[in-house]
Amino acid sequence: MSTDNLIGVHALVWAGGSTPDEVQTAVDSTARSGYDLLEMSLHDLDHLDIAAAGAALQAREVAVVCSRGLDFDADVSSDDLAVVSRGETLLMQSLDATEKLGATILTGALYSALGKYARRMTPSGRDNAVRVLRTLAREAHGRGLSIGLEVCNRYETNVVNTAAEALRLADDIGEDNVFIHLDTYHMNIEESDLVNPVLTVGDRLGYVHLGESHRGYLGTGSVNFQSFFGALEKINYQGPITFESFSSAVVSESLSNNLAVWRNMWKDGHDLAIHARHFIENCLSSAESAADGD
Ligand code: MN
Repeated sequence: MSTDNLIGVHALVWAGGSTPDEVQTAVDSTARSGYDLLEMSLHDLDHLDIAAAGAALQAREVAVVCSRGLDFDADVSSDDLAVVSRGETLLMQSLDATEKLGATILTGALYSALGKYARRMTPSGRDNAVRVLRTLAREAHGRGLSIGLEVCNRYETNVVNTAAEALRLADDIGEDNVFIHLDTYHMNIEESDLVNPVLTVGDRLGYVHLGESHRGYLGTGSVNFQSFFGALEKINYQGPITFESFSSAVVSESLSNNLAVWRNMWKDGHDLAIHARHFIENCLSSAESAADGD
């Protein structure tokens, strides 16, 4: 870890939709509040003007990472091959959008719908997810892109809830451009601590979400960021670190509902983002000085 980690912010801090005006606002706000990177969710691909968004990002020199989850009727972990095929189509469209926006990372719950499953994943459903993600990763490799598997909590997926499960999934996919994406909000629900998963994933960690236990202001919940940053320092993590926060103040009809964002955690995204950037910089520098003192 070093001052070279790109510091990112999720677009839902700024705007709920993907109209050209909303994307412009997100890009401008990201740059103005001192972030290097904007994470754009592709859940609203139909309304996203990719050329305009790419131009806006380039004009402000803001880096971009793309993320998404799938839908229950377009889900590569399903037993129903028609549902799997619709999920595969969504993933391929998302890979196209990722490339055209100028991003090199597509990540998220790419292996399932984003939401509460009524039952466990089946073995054949898992086989379907592995097969489609292998195809996606090979296609991504040819375009110089990599694929992240975000580890999400049990209420948002039944495919991977822990870092260990995500490593097994990545092993089964078996492609070098597939990495693990850890999120402190989900880890706080599912993992025994915030250190061992990071050490276990090691150099296969490719992306990080910082989320507080209630997904509001960093440092106002129960997540132990100090130990998490200490672990990132131990594995010398060089990848992006992106702040993710959701409030009913900024609503995306689909994404906010899938993530169960019912409460107003904050009103002012700008104040929230400035606070988060200072918080992250402090965590980075204290982790570095703690390591220097070893
Ligand atoms: Mn996340």
